[in-house]
Amino acid sequence: MEERVLSMICVSCPVGCDLRVRVQGKKVLDVEGHSCPRGIDFAEAEVANPTRVFATTVRVSGGKLPVCPVRSRQAVPKERLFDISKEVARLVVPAPVDIGQVILPDVCGTGVDIVATRDLKAKEESA
Ligand code: SF4
Repeated sequence: MEERVLSMICVSCPVGCDLRVRVQGKKVLDVEGHSCPRGIDFAEAEVANPTRVFATTVRVSGGKLPVCPVRSRQAVPKERLFDISKEVARLVVPAPVDIGQVILPDVCGTGVDIVATRDLKAKEESA
């Protein structure tokens, strides 16, 4: 199987090291550019099964604000992000919304819930 060199940014911490990753198929042969061992772990996970935490906003009806920020409770397969985005874009959630509230369970059959990341009061509630 042919070797390839991939460029990626490690997102395991805010430093964001630029990695050069030599791979053969899904096997990591060599990693350069990492400042700590977590960079190697990131590269191996990214090559084998890339995942991301999904974050966006959902529309809210009857709330003090028209949208509420949400995120996936765990990382989801990167290849499913587009499907998840479409599914979440269809939602309209009634206010009030509580932080941590499950907005959409098992999004797209991933086993991961979409949850609210802030409280959002209904229009008639006091601050
Ligand atoms: S390799 Fe280490 S220092 Fe660099 S971004 Fe990843 S976790 Fe941070």
